[in-house]
This record gives sequence, C-alpha cells and structure tokens, in this order.
Amino acid sequence: MQLQLRDIGVEIDGRRLVDGVSLTLQSGELLGLIGPNGAGKSSLLKALAHLLPYTGELLLDGVALGELSPRERALRCAYLGQGDQSSWPLRLRDYVALGRLPHRGGWGVPARLRGADEQAIDAALAQMHLSELAERRFDQLSGGERARARLARALAVGSPLLLADEPVAALDPFHQLNVMELLRQQCAQGKAALVVLHDLTLASRFCDRIMLLDQGRVVDCGSARHVLTPKNLQQVYRVQAMLGEHQEQRFVLPWSCRQDGENP
Ligand code: ADP
Ligand code: MG
Repeated sequence: MQLQLRDIGVEIDGRRLVDGVSLTLQSGELLGLIGPNGAGKSSLLKALAHLLPYTGELLLDGVALGELSPRERALRCAYLGQGDQSSWPLRLRDYVALGRLPHRGGWGVPARLRGADEQAIDAALAQMHLSELAERRFDQLSGGERARARLARALAVGSPLLLADEPVAALDPFHQLNVMELLRQQCAQGKAALVVLHDLTLASRFCDRIMLLDQGRVVDCGSARHVLTPKNLQQVYRVQAMLGEHQEQRFVLPWSCRQDGENP
C-alpha cells in the first residue's frame, strides 16, 4: 500500500482549511497527525477519505482516489471520524459488523455474513476488549466503550490503510495504550495508519513519523525528536512543556500556557 498526497488543499467558503500538504505513506508506517484545534487535521483526513472536495492529487497505489468506486475505497481505506456520534439501538456485534458491509456487496441488501466476516468481527471485538459486551446494545454502552466499538468497526474492515481521527481521545490510559500498541503491531504486519492525536507522548512513543499541522499547513514532518521540540510546542501549541526520556523514548508533558509576549 502506498498513499501519496500531492499538494492537497481544502477550501470551504473561500477559507483555506488545508494548504499544500504533500506526503507519502507506505505499508508498515504509523503516522501521527498533530496540531492545535482548528489546524485542519480533520479536514485533511476527510479529504483523504473522499468526504470533502479537495485540490491536488491523492493516489492510492498509484491510482487517483476519485477513480476508485466507493466500495473499492471502503475496502482499501477505513475511516473513523472525529467524535462520531453514531448511537444506534443495535447489538454491539451487529454494529461492528457494519465494518464488513463493503465485503458483503456494498450498501444494497448485503450478503449473509461469511466465515471471514465473523472472524474479522470477533478479532476486532477482542482487540478492543469488547468480546464480553458483544450482545449488549451499542447505544447503552459507556462513552469510552462506544469509542472502542467505533474503532472495532473500522478495524473489522481489515483494510490495508486506516485513517483515524482522535481514536483515543475518550479512552482511559489502559485502552489508549492498548490501541496504540495494536496499531503499532498492525503496521509491523504491513498495514499503514494515519492517526490524529492530541497526546504528544503517545505520538512520540508509537508513531514512526509525526506531521505537525498549523493553520492548514505542514510545519514539520519527521521523527518525534525532530518535530516535538520546545520551539514547536511554544510557537504552534503555545505551551511550555517538560520534555524527558524514559526507557529511551521521549515523553512530552505540557505544563503551562505560554504567556503572550514570551519569547519562544
Ligand atoms: P482540527 O481537526 O485540526 O481541529 P478542522 O479540520 O476540524 O481542525 O477545522 C479546521 C478549520 O476549518 C477550523 O477553523 C474550522 O472551524 C474550519 N471548518 C471545519 N469544517 C468546516 C466547514 N464545514 N465549514 C467551514 N469551516 C469549517
Ligand atoms: Mg479535528
């Protein structure tokens, strides 16, 4: 799998939300997309998921995304939107099974679940530690359980590429780490993921590369050490942060708001 972004721009009502983003993402890579509120992260992800009009070129394995059928796109690229509010009175297992729709003929009358579908659903539930809740109603789960269920739905697709917008924002520390370890493991097995994160320590520890976006533009893209610098944290995030090392990995602890006028 190779995803290529060439000079991607998103404009709505004359406002440029994403401007000139270029990137190549390969199988095996976990890329963290970071940046302050309003930076354009979600808009960029929506464009990649073909949910917003964009300018520039988006190629999946060399083919323009727009040339693929919706079903083909859904099979090759799973998308988890930010703050997805779906809350339907479905059994959790049936909710996660929605991720298998593109495998079952699309959005018409889907074919029956086959063995491979059942296996993918069971695996996704287990990966999100939801197996015991499989018969419960999705809309009666806790907020964090629902967030894990939404990710399970996206994982059940089994696509080579996952686009996930703040997938760990509502999760407790155990499940945050579980999701990041799982994504790491899946990428080691040849998948690729582009994940929006606000937790800079998780981004630093688990992502191969980090892309820092501000006002729709890429400020920096590279290793955690290259991107998570005091200068970027102060200028882009407007915070003073503690940067440290534990087990040879960098952690970032935002500590205080930068005062206006303070030198970066
Ligand atoms: P992020 O995910 O980085 O917080 P978004 O991509 O959601 O940022 O939004 C980027 C900017 O675009 C924000 O200023 C937001 O208010 C604006 N924006 C997002 N969606 C729309 C829309 N549909 N119409 C107009 N402005 C939008
Ligand atoms: Mg967002």
